[in-house]
Amino acid sequence: MADSAKLVVIGAGPGGYAAAFLAADLDLDVVLVDPEENPGGVCLYRGCIPSKALLHVAKLIDEADHAADWGVAFGKPTIDVDRLRGFKDRVVSKLTGGLGQLTKQRKVRHIRGTARFTDANRLELDLVDGGTDTLDFEHAIVATGSHPTAIPGFPESERILDSTGGLDLAGVPKKLLVVGGGYIGLELGSVYAALGSKVTMVEMTDGLLPGVDRDLVRPLQKRLEKACEEILLSTKVVAIKEQKAGLKVTLEGDDLDKPDRTYDTVLVAVGRRPNSSDLGLENTAAVVDEQGFITVDERLRTAQPNVFAIGDVVGQPMLAHKASHEARVAVETIAGHKVAFEPACIPAVVFTDPEVAWCGLTETEAKERGIDVQVARFPWAASGRAMTLDRDDGVTKLIIDPETERILGVGLTGAGAGELIAEGVLAVEMAALASDLKLSIHPHPTLSETMMEAAEVFFGQSTHVYRPKRAKKAKTS
Ligand code: FAD
Repeated sequence: MADSAKLVVIGAGPGGYAAAFLAADLDLDVVLVDPEENPGGVCLYRGCIPSKALLHVAKLIDEADHAADWGVAFGKPTIDVDRLRGFKDRVVSKLTGGLGQLTKQRKVRHIRGTARFTDANRLELDLVDGGTDTLDFEHAIVATGSHPTAIPGFPESERILDSTGGLDLAGVPKKLLVVGGGYIGLELGSVYAALGSKVTMVEMTDGLLPGVDRDLVRPLQKRLEKACEEILLSTKVVAIKEQKAGLKVTLEGDDLDKPDRTYDTVLVAVGRRPNSSDLGLENTAAVVDEQGFITVDERLRTAQPNVFAIGDVVGQPMLAHKASHEARVAVETIAGHKVAFEPACIPAVVFTDPEVAWCGLTETEAKERGIDVQVARFPWAASGRAMTLDRDDGVTKLIIDPETERILGVGLTGAGAGELIAEGVLAVEMAALASDLKLSIHPHPTLSETMMEAAEVFFGQSTHVYRPKRAKKAKTS
């Protein structure tokens, strides 16, 4: 007889393990299927966590270099790649090991393998230690995540890496080409630049971080221009040839002095694709769109009523915290609660230096959609705390509805912006008004004051930004 479960969760990333854990907390009988020894998914093994461990070290290297300006010189750092990799791997195994413990404590049954639907109530399991099995279920949550997009036509080469290969940190290439100016390319490119690689970044569109407000990107671009060899915008990689001396890359773009260049390594970071094709979804009524995302409603239910899907496999933004939040909605729906996935905003953070973070309506989106907004900007050059950190290259901006004075969106660039955006999320989610932010006393001296002062800018009353009053018109009689 086939094994059975009330709920099976397929994939143990931040969507899947959050779902399985909550299901157990709600006393649902739950099985979690994933090939890894412990939960974690891309985020913990090959994404958010290893990249942030490396970015932490990159920031340290950068700050140590910068410290000479403050009278403290450390000299040129020596990089022990094996120890650095060891640090990153320890962080990953500590966290995933902890999740393994939590899985046991919650009595979630973890089956190591991959799952495939044979019908709407049965899975075929390919077990990691060999053999196959079947599992019958009442409800399923698909949380199989995504994988890096490859560029067709590029040769198979050990020197052409995707984000997973980049994070493996096999070594520090002398000359690295990063293809793709999205957040993954910028984060990994920053790591390698700090470790000593001569990094060239290529982005097909005319700006880094396509879609993000330009005033938020500018301070980052300025700093990256110093850290990198070259940043080539509106430029495409059209061919790569493996040669003895390295990878010969042919570029196509407007301002190129020479189209052919040679690199030791090419890191491709041009987006991610959902893992939906090998799941046997065709044996259920679930629908997959032309990009491969599983179609779900606001409760994360697919067209097959007992099958739900969450995380990267259902669409943008492909972010861990979105996956975990969707997990709650799917599980609570299965448990019979009345819930829906309707966040007012989903924050995004680029963990470069400076960090870029935003949530809710952006200025770019407001323009595109013809929404009338007022933008209140507070430059970090006017922040005492930013000065003490010698990091005044930041900006805090609020996107405000001029009629209701409600905060619709928040954008931040600067050191630690990723932490600061949480206040913006709360403001947008709670439908806070600019006056709420203005009247909330923020601790001094902190970067969080820039949120309060941006609200003060909206009212023309920022303590640290002087706005000359408009001359009053002389009365005419
Ligand atoms: P995943 O984490 O992708 O997990 C899916 C799991 O399902 C995997 O373990 C996979 O092996 C398993 N699986 C797949 N098919 C099957 C099957 N048939 N049967 C069983 N198991 C299966 N997001 C952030 O929010 N912040 C960041 O800073 C951040 N940084 C990133 C940096 C990098 C370099 C990358 C690549 C990604 C980053 N992300 C970040 C994105 C984040 O990793 C994903 O959004 C998140 O992991 C998605 O979670 P998920 O649960 O949908 O799936």
